[in-house]
Amino acid sequence: MALRAYDKIIGRSSTMQRAGEPALTARILSGTEIRNQIYADLKKEIAELKTMGIQPGLAAVLVGNNPASEMYVKSKVAACGELGLFSDMITPPDTVSTEELLALVAQLNRRDEIDGILVQLPLPKQVNAKRILDAVDPEKDVDGFHPVSVGRLVAGQPGLVACTPAGVMEILRRSGIPVEGANAVVMGRSDIVGKPMALLLMHAHATVTICHSKTKNLPDVVRRADIVVAAMGKAGMVQPDWIKPGATVIDVGTNKLTDADLAAKLYASNPKRLEKFREKGFTTCGDVHPDAAQVAGAITPVPGGVGPLTIAMLMSNTVKAARLRRGVREKGAHEQGGHAGPPLRPESPVAAAKG
Ligand code: NAP
Repeated sequence: MALRAYDKIIGRSSTMQRAGEPALTARILSGTEIRNQIYADLKKEIAELKTMGIQPGLAAVLVGNNPASEMYVKSKVAACGELGLFSDMITPPDTVSTEELLALVAQLNRRDEIDGILVQLPLPKQVNAKRILDAVDPEKDVDGFHPVSVGRLVAGQPGLVACTPAGVMEILRRSGIPVEGANAVVMGRSDIVGKPMALLLMHAHATVTICHSKTKNLPDVVRRADIVVAAMGKAGMVQPDWIKPGATVIDVGTNKLTDADLAAKLYASNPKRLEKFREKGFTTCGDVHPDAAQVAGAITPVPGGVGPLTIAMLMSNTVKAARLRRGVREKGAHEQGGHAGPPLRPESPVAAAKG
């Protein structure tokens, strides 16, 4: 990627420092900027599909009145509106049974105008969430959680990949961070982030180490990484001296921080942020100590890093599902020989990885 374009993505040069903010050495990888690029690409693709009479559609199932779930689903529906995708939000009550939800999913599987089905988690206690997720037609599994989607990812076959790790790959690819041959350390082994993340990095020819709560000498393992992906849900746990100078740090962690002592430690060199925390009584922080930006070569901020990519990749998966279901290839995919070059959006996990 041309340096100027790269600078535009990162949005801030290495030496810039505003009053009241800490000195940074790392390039800031702005998820918001990258999300905007993806949306611009998607808008072109959606317009092209429209000329073929295709409008990709997403069904979002929101059970009950969980405020966080409501907020997430509304953002996803709003993103569909912004991009010109069809969306249908279905809101069963929180008394819904497993059988009733299974019947709803079966109906959505049959509806031809629906290309993607999203069942917002968590589901109420009386519902067997695994049965519901497994009932989603794998061709419409835009969350990438279905065992068939996971199997395709393992095998490197075209399919729908979990949105957050797919978004991390877009950050790396669009920021020109070399992955091939890099030592990558993924902290966290969940089904929705850590495992698919490690697979995508492996398909991209990184040498991948997966860490979890039983990993010994975690700081030493992280110190060997050229690319660090932190996805543990542990506020500010990754210390600056765990980071190899110049490494790329992707902070997936999204934690509501209310502990004033921890906030004072994390934002000691950022009085403005600390002041905001004190005003509001909380802030959203990642798994990585913010001062890691003084050691890393590139780092994603929290908020504004990985977060915006998750919805962007859901939109991307919905368009991709529409194309795959209707046998429409991505423009240029043939010319690129399938996986030969970096496509606009990944056709397969292997292609996703190659960027
Ligand atoms: P999760 O299911 O709770 O998994 C956490 C993982 O971290 C587990 O594999 C766990 O190990 C590991 N872990 C926990 N404590 C550890 C420690 N002290 N040392 C090493 N590993 C440790 O969480 P998740 O759903 O993957 O989410 C992880 C974080 O990403 C959360 O903060 C979540 O909010 C965030 N997230 C953000 C987005 C986004 O859009 N930005 C999307 C999804 C998730 P064990 O397996 O041994 O228990």
